[in-house]
Amino acid sequence: MGDSLLDKLDAQKMLAWALTEKLDGVGTSADPDLPGFDILGVLGRGGMGTVYKAMHHGLDRMVALKVFTARGGEQDLFIERLKREGRLMAQLEHPNVLGIYDGDVLSDGTPYLVLEYVNGEDLQERIYECKRLKLKESIRIVVKVCNGLSAVHSLGVIHRDIKPANVLLGKNGSVKVTDFGVSKETTTDNNTALTMTGTAIGTVDYMSPEQSNGGVVDERADIYSVGVLLYEMIAGVTPRGAFEPLGKFGAPKELEKLVMRCLQRDPDKRPASAASVAQQLKKIYKQLRGRKVRNASSGIYSGLAGVACLGVLAMFIARGMRELETSSADELAASELTATSELPVVTDRKVRGWVDLCDGLDVVTATRNGQWWNADGTLISNDKPATLIQLNQRPTGAYTIEYAFTRVSGDGDVVMIVPSSIGLLTVSLGTNSMQIPELGKHTRGLAEQKIHNLQLGVVYHVVIDVTDSEIVARVDDQTLEAWSLDAQEKNIQGKWSRAEAGKLALGVDGSQVLFSQLLMQLK
Ligand code: AMP
Repeated sequence: MGDSLLDKLDAQKMLAWALTEKLDGVGTSADPDLPGFDILGVLGRGGMGTVYKAMHHGLDRMVALKVFTARGGEQDLFIERLKREGRLMAQLEHPNVLGIYDGDVLSDGTPYLVLEYVNGEDLQERIYECKRLKLKESIRIVVKVCNGLSAVHSLGVIHRDIKPANVLLGKNGSVKVTDFGVSKETTTDNNTALTMTGTAIGTVDYMSPEQSNGGVVDERADIYSVGVLLYEMIAGVTPRGAFEPLGKFGAPKELEKLVMRCLQRDPDKRPASAASVAQQLKKIYKQLRGRKVRNASSGIYSGLAGVACLGVLAMFIARGMRELETSSADELAASELTATSELPVVTDRKVRGWVDLCDGLDVVTATRNGQWWNADGTLISNDKPATLIQLNQRPTGAYTIEYAFTRVSGDGDVVMIVPSSIGLLTVSLGTNSMQIPELGKHTRGLAEQKIHNLQLGVVYHVVIDVTDSEIVARVDDQTLEAWSLDAQEKNIQGKWSRAEAGKLALGVDGSQVLFSQLLMQLK
């Protein structure tokens, strides 16, 4: 949006607004009336106002509207900070920094920002629900926070309020740093005008000692906050007083040391940059990942009978080859940690109402044709005939399906059968083509063919959003197809329909495929 926020936030108007009695109620009573937007609900309330979920008709996309609450005598500072937030966020285009589309004032003078909408939750909610996050998940999130901070710091800006509520977590695994309302530009600020020396700006638990003392802060203040964040994610509490070492919570020595360095009172003793924290975390992640793969491979190997072992082995061989193709351990970890499609851990999801579709799945009764195995939450198909497995769920209305899969052998289609408002549809991925959805016999011709080229041994992450009016399918976070169901024939009978009796199902044609993290969430 460039300078448009600054153009639109007319200083006189803002000042007048700041001095009127209307202020007290601004942003807290009725939903804002904004032409061009449908307000769909409140996403959250923060120190600066209310954030609404809204549909922007012009952009035809969901956005977050941040409508600011006025703050009595501090109004001029508040306005400055608001302008700053808009200006800074608009400058940054980074996958780990929340995007900003526009900013303006409501008819009563209330300022607002139009922000990228994150379909998910914030880290504070995640910590509250899970109490303690898994090590790998904690590292994955904090690496992305550091990536975002690194971009912010490279503009000469210090965030100064890194805390869980300011880290947004998308359901697709994205991580976005937000809320630059109290940030500081190192190049232009004299540390008094907007930062109110002597006043604690930021959030006490996460604030570096120099910041709470009103001293000079630089990017290492954000690194201190990152240390608190990481400690809290792993230990479930912020590090206060004589806090317990992270090793008590299963953290390896290197991780404990790194967090302790971030938490040093003396900024000189902390890591010098967010980039270096990210780098060290990636190394630790890689070590943890190595441990997990070794454990998982031996666990699955011993739990499977005969032919399935070959498939699992083939997958690990294929995975191993992929790792060898990656030139260094660091690069491997880096590529994993920057992929926005990485699925959060299943147990975290369950808390949010996600259903693990493998839970209690009896493959013997659920299988149609062929043979499947359920190896501790990984579903494995055989590779002979076209075979199908019912997932024992008949979702209606809006819902989301997520899963990861790897093809071990063969080249036939890999399909998810989804109940929809017009009948059963097939979301199909293949070696040379992909159809989303394949609308049964009568309408099959409508399905646009796309080259997808599923490769052996590569893990793909799929997200399918089903609503009454459309199906949107994504692979590795790329939208492959958004299908409107409104104009389609009703009561579609896909080729699997009769066998399916309205249930969610997976189908595989002449391939051995491993499916994991099969999750469903009703909306
Ligand atoms: P804030 O005022 O920025 O602290 O936001 C308050 C709460 O609203 C956050 O903690 C989030 O839960 C939610 N929220 C803020 N921005 C967004 C966004 N862009 N997309 C989705 N939820 C958001």
